[in-house]
Amino acid sequence: MNTDKLSNRLATVAKYVPNGARLADIGSDHAYLPCFLAKNEAILFAIAGEVVEGPFKSAVGNVQSEGLSEIVSVRFGNGLEVIEVGEVDCITIAGMGGALIANILENGKEKLQTVRRLILQPNISAASIRKWLIEHQWELIAEEILEEDGKIYEVLVAENGDTFKPYKNTQLELGLLVGPFLLNKKDEAFKKKWHLEMENWKRIYSQLEGAATTEETELKKQELLEKIKMVEEALGDEDSERS
Ligand code: SAM
Repeated sequence: MNTDKLSNRLATVAKYVPNGARLADIGSDHAYLPCFLAKNEAILFAIAGEVVEGPFKSAVGNVQSEGLSEIVSVRFGNGLEVIEVGEVDCITIAGMGGALIANILENGKEKLQTVRRLILQPNISAASIRKWLIEHQWELIAEEILEEDGKIYEVLVAENGDTFKPYKNTQLELGLLVGPFLLNKKDEAFKKKWHLEMENWKRIYSQLEGAATTEETELKKQELLEKIKMVEEALGDEDSERS
C-alpha cells in the first residue's frame, strides 16, 4: 500500500468520501488515504490526525515528499481535537477497534456540527459504533464487508437522519450486532465472519460447561446461547447446518 495504491479496505473507505469533501482522517498513520484522495483531486483538503509520534512523523514525511502540504494538513493530537468546529464535512476513522472509534466520536461530538458524513472502518466490534450512531441521531446509510489478507473488515457509512430507519425490518439487537445492510445482503464474507464468531462462542460455551457453576457462568452461558440462536437464525437453516 502507498499513496497511489490503497488496500481494498482503505479503497472501500475512499469510495464513500464525497467528491470535493473537506475531510478529517483520524488515526491516519502514513496518511495514505488523504494523500491518495488529494492526488486524485477527489477532496478540497484534508486534515490527517495522529496521536502517536512515529505515525505522525511518517504522515508528515509522506505529505511533504508528495508535495501535498497545501492540501493535506498533518496534525498531532488525540481524536477529533485536531479539528476546529466547522472545518470539515466528512470524517474517516479506519483500522481501529469499534469501541475506540465510538470513544473518539463521543469525546469529540461537539466537533461534528458541520460534519455531513462519517465513514468508519472498525477492525472489531462494529456493534459499538452502530450503538453510538443510534444514540446520537446518525443514520447508517451503507455498510460493506470485505476480506483481505485473511481478515474480514466492515465499513460503516452514516449521515444525519432517521437513526432507526435501517433497522425498520430487522430485530434491533440483531441489526446492531451484524449490521442491517450486511444482514440484508449476506455476502460470503458476512457468512464467514459470523460462522467463525459462532464457533468461537460455542468454544467458550463448552469451556464454561466445564467450569464451576456460578450465577455468573450461568448468565454468560445463557447470553451465548441467545446470541448463537439469533445469529444461526439470521444466517438461515442451510448455513447453520454447516457450523
Ligand atoms: N487509518 C489507517 C488505516 O486504516 O490504515 C491507520 C490505521 S492504524 C492501525 C491506527 C492508527 O490510529 C495508529 O496510527 C494510531 O496511532 C492511531 N490512533 C489510535 N488512537 C488514536 C486517537 N485517539 N487519535 C488519533 N489517532 C489515533
